[in-house]
Amino acid sequence: MAHRLLGLLLPCNCVLCGASGPELLCPGCRAQFFAAGTARCPSCANPLPAADTAPVPCGRCQADRPAFDATVAAADYALPVDRLVLQLKFARQLALARLFAGLLAEAVLRSGAVPRPALLCPVPLGPQRLAERGFNQALEIARPLGKRLGIAVAPRLAVRVRETAAQSSMLHGARQANLARAFAIPERALVEGRHIGLVDDVMSSGRTLQELAATLKRHGAARVTNYVFARTPPNTN
Ligand SMILES: [Zn+2]
Ligand SMILES: [Zn+2]
Repeated sequence: MAHRLLGLLLPCNCVLCGASGPELLCPGCRAQFFAAGTARCPSCANPLPAADTAPVPCGRCQADRPAFDATVAAADYALPVDRLVLQLKFARQLALARLFAGLLAEAVLRSGAVPRPALLCPVPLGPQRLAERGFNQALEIARPLGKRLGIAVAPRLAVRVRETAAQSSMLHGARQANLARAFAIPERALVEGRHIGLVDDVMSSGRTLQELAATLKRHGAARVTNYVFARTPPNTN
């Protein structure tokens, strides 16, 4: 209510189309880029053929089951949504993290009867990357998301023990080796027997989430669900 009042007093511009209004995202852009509609694989969130309405995992997930159990994504990582992600990460537009969390919470609520995690864990950055950027965008999204969903956030549930080169700058084959044993779980008791929700801004190849989920499972996690703001469509991997 206070937020809405403030919005009326201080109109802002839609982050996508620039239309002025009370919210960071106008209703038109919200409907165009974030509405329900894309049928996604319940396991990896890649788009499914429109005819596939039943929540059955995609062919890739059936052939090679990922370490995580489910993925919820709020949007495709494509124009113009990708620009917003870059603005959060590289131009420190931290207000966007709250917007992403709100949109992601709506996607989670739409996903219906899927079990909810007991704890949210932001995908950690290595100390060097964290120092360069000054913040972890995954944690900035996880905090308001946890508040919206009523799930506690454990910022240091997982830590990066090896600094890894940016995945995007590496050749396909080198990525897997780059990530092997990249994460550690300082407190096994937090993870054992629990359903952990991993939070990140973007899921591209899914290798980071795969490695982190595998680490959590090795430490006894009962289930792992990914909450990602944007999902890179598979053909652009
Ligand atoms: Zn707009
Ligand atoms: Zn899949």
